[in-house]
Amino acid sequence: MIVVMHKDATREMTEHVLHIIEEHGLRGEAMYGDQRTAIGVIGEKEKLDEGKVIRLAGVKEILLVSKPYKKVSREYKPENTVVKIGKVAFGAGSPVIIAGPCGVESEDQIMTIAKGVKERGAHMLRGGAFKPRTSPYSFQGMEEEGLKLLAQAREATGLPVVTELISVEHIPLFEKYDIDMIQLGARNMQNFELLKRAAKTNRPILLKRGMSATVEEFLLAAEYCLNEGNKNVVLCERGIRTFEQSTRNILDLNSLTLIKETSHLPIIADPSHAAGRYDLVVPLALGALATGADGLIVEVHNKPDEALSDGKQSLILESFEEMMGNLKKMHLIN
Ligand code: PEP
Ligand code: MN
Repeated sequence: MIVVMHKDATREMTEHVLHIIEEHGLRGEAMYGDQRTAIGVIGEKEKLDEGKVIRLAGVKEILLVSKPYKKVSREYKPENTVVKIGKVAFGAGSPVIIAGPCGVESEDQIMTIAKGVKERGAHMLRGGAFKPRTSPYSFQGMEEEGLKLLAQAREATGLPVVTELISVEHIPLFEKYDIDMIQLGARNMQNFELLKRAAKTNRPILLKRGMSATVEEFLLAAEYCLNEGNKNVVLCERGIRTFEQSTRNILDLNSLTLIKETSHLPIIADPSHAAGRYDLVVPLALGALATGADGLIVEVHNKPDEALSDGKQSLILESFEEMMGNLKKMHLIN
């Protein structure tokens, strides 16, 4: 339920409504916007007499949120959420380009790639230190050493870093290396304890869509993060599983577009994991930004043939440069 206040309602009136809501055992959150002030109400709405609320001073109308997700919906908050990380801003109109290897593999590798993507216009650096691999025999990541190298690459380039969290036990390490943005991967999209604990750190979250998750499940997962009081959530469409087996996944631009309509959260696209092969990455990146994605996360490697994970879908630095050039030419980035 959303209580919309009159344009000229005072702050005291809004606070009084909040007080009444809480007195009835519900949770209220005031959103003071330029266009309107509204109060989001979460809990069993039967506990509250709508007739009483509508008569309170300053109240204009009561809206019911029809979706199962509440705080992530545009019904709850009509204006776009902007997630800021230093000078980087997701959802502010200018797409954010995140680039880097699938996994951090060595100092030389991450430093070469970090400097290379920075020179070519990337805004953030990616790189996994804890890798959730399908096979237990595949490279599992450099763990703490990987986080340390990422922090070192940030120091050298000024690029904020995003890296995947796969266990709550690693949160202290993420704090130690002051990781700028926590990635929650496709395989953990419905690991609700991990979501809640990651959100509690108050660091910005990059939530990737599970490969078989519906839009509703995806948005409900984001709702878990917002419920912990963390509003800095960026969604990521990374491809879904379908009957089509000729590429790794299918970049679901239908859902991306739909989510832009139904949610105020920024959403970026990951053409690398969607395609699974480097030659499709650039066209998919163009398509995603043309569709309205708030940014991209792309895998880039200096030696893809020797990469310990996802080499097949990694762009070399020259191709990343070409992608950035194409995006500029098409006026998709500045
Ligand atoms: C990744 O970003 O390297 C990754 C494992 O992504 P996803 O969770 O989308 O598979
Ligand atoms: Mn990868």
